[in-house]
Amino acid sequence: MSQIVETLINLGLGKPAELKRANTPFTGTVLLGGGANADCLPTVAAFCRRQNLSLCRPVSASGASAEAIEGIGTWATSEDQPGDKLQALVFDGTGIEDTRDLNLAYDFFKPALKSLSSCGRIIILSRPHRDQATPEAAACQRALEGLARSLAKESGKRGTTAQIVTVEAGAEGALEGPLGFLLSNRSAYVNAQVFRVSNADLPATDTASPLAGKTALVTGASRGIGAAIASTLARDGATIIGLDVEPLKTDLEALMSKLGGQSLIADITADDTPAKVLEIAKARGGLDIVVHNAGITRDKTLANMPEHWWDLTLDINLGAALRLNSALFEAEALNRGGRIVGVSSMNGIAGQRGQSNYAASKAGVIGYVEQMAPQLKERGITINAVAPGFIETQMTAAIPVMTREVGRRLNSLSQGGQPEDVAETIAFFASPQAAGITGNIIRVCGQSWLGA
Ligand code: NAD
Repeated sequence: MSQIVETLINLGLGKPAELKRANTPFTGTVLLGGGANADCLPTVAAFCRRQNLSLCRPVSASGASAEAIEGIGTWATSEDQPGDKLQALVFDGTGIEDTRDLNLAYDFFKPALKSLSSCGRIIILSRPHRDQATPEAAACQRALEGLARSLAKESGKRGTTAQIVTVEAGAEGALEGPLGFLLSNRSAYVNAQVFRVSNADLPATDTASPLAGKTALVTGASRGIGAAIASTLARDGATIIGLDVEPLKTDLEALMSKLGGQSLIADITADDTPAKVLEIAKARGGLDIVVHNAGITRDKTLANMPEHWWDLTLDINLGAALRLNSALFEAEALNRGGRIVGVSSMNGIAGQRGQSNYAASKAGVIGYVEQMAPQLKERGITINAVAPGFIETQMTAAIPVMTREVGRRLNSLSQGGQPEDVAETIAFFASPQAAGITGNIIRVCGQSWLGA
C-alpha cells in the first residue's frame, strides 16, 4: 500500500472494499420483489435458476409480485433474527404507475439492505419513462433511476453496485443479456448505470466461449485497456486482429502471438489504414466486432494549446474511427450481428480542465453512437460505448501522484478500476447476449462523482 493511500485511510477515508472480479464465481441468494404487473420477474427467475442462484421473496407486500413464481421460498428479517445473507436484490418496478406505489420499493429495500453481502448487486427494473401513458407513470419510472443511483452511493463502500435496467415493452426476453453481466463479478467496477434494453432474439450461446467463430478488430491493442480488451475477447473465443503503431510493434506481436491473433501495424489516422483493415477483413470472411480503443491525451488549457495537439487528438480519438467505420459499412465488411464499441471517457461527459480537445473527441464518440444505433439496428448491428473513469494504466500513471490518488477515490467504490473492468464491459457488448443493447453509453467508473 502506498504511503499516500495509508495517509488517506488515516484521514478517515477508509480502506476501499476488495472487489471480486471475473475469476470469482457469483453465488448465493437473490431476493426478488416488485410492484403490480412486474412483467420481468419471470425472466429474472428463469435466469437465476439456470445460473444455480437461490431465489426468495420477502414476506411483505413488496414480495407479492414474486408469489406467482413457483417454488420460491420467503425471506424475512427482524431485530431479533437477521435474515439469511443475500447476494443480490432485484426489484421489478416496471408496472409502477402511481406515486404511492413507490413505497413498495422502500418496503423491499429497507429490511434487505443490511443483509446484503459485500460485493453484492442491486438491480432495479424499469420502463423507459418517455414511453409511459401518463405523466405520473413517467414520474414513477424515472424515480426508480434516482433510487438506484442513491443506493449505489450508499452501498459502494462495501463493493456493492446498483444499476437500473430499463426494459422496453416486449423486450423482457432480451433482459437476460444484461442480467448475465450484472449478476456476475465481471461487472465489478460498473456502478449506477442505466442499461437500456430493446427487443431482440437472443441466440443460444455457449457460455464458456460466447464469441467462438467471431473475428474482432481492437485498435490500440498492445497495452493498457486495449491489451485487456484483446485478451478478454480472446478468452471468450474470438480471433483477434490487434492494431497498433510501429513503436509498439514488439509488444503487439508478443500479445497477438500469445492470443493466437494477427498483428496489424498501422496508424489509425493514416489514409491507407482502412484499406489494410478491409484486406484482412475480406480474407477472414468479414469482421464481427470492432473496438475503437486507440486514444491519446495532449493536455493544455485551450488558450495554451498548440493547434496540432487539437488536431491530432480529435483525429485519433474520433475522426479516424468514424472513417474506418464508414469504410467498413461501404464495403459491407461488418457481418450481420456485428458489434461496434467505442471508447469514450468520463471526461467526455463531465468535461475537464486542460482536456478540451480530449473531452470534445470523447463526447463526439457518444454523439456518434447515439445517432448510428437506430440505423444500424436495421442491419442487425449494435453500437455502444464505454466511458471509463479512473482506470489504472500508463495513461493515468502519468498523472501527478496526489491528483492521481484523489482521482482514484472520487467514486462510490473509492478506488480506481482495472483495464479488465473496461474489457469485461466491452466483452458483454460484443456478446450475442447483448443483442438487445444498442445506443448505450455505460460508464465504467465505480460511480464517479464527476459528471452526470
Ligand atoms: P494507453 O496510452 O495505455 O493505450 C492507448 C493505445 O492506443 C496505445 O497502445 C497506443 O499506441 C494506441 N494508439 C495511440 N495512437 C494511435 C494511432 N494513431 N494509431 C494506432 N494506435 C494508436 O491508454 P489506455 O489508458 O489504455 O487508454 C485506452 C483508451 O481508453 C483510450 O481511448 C483512452 O482515451 C480511454 N480511456 C482511458 C482512461 C484511463 O483511465 N486509462 C479513462 C477514460 C478513457
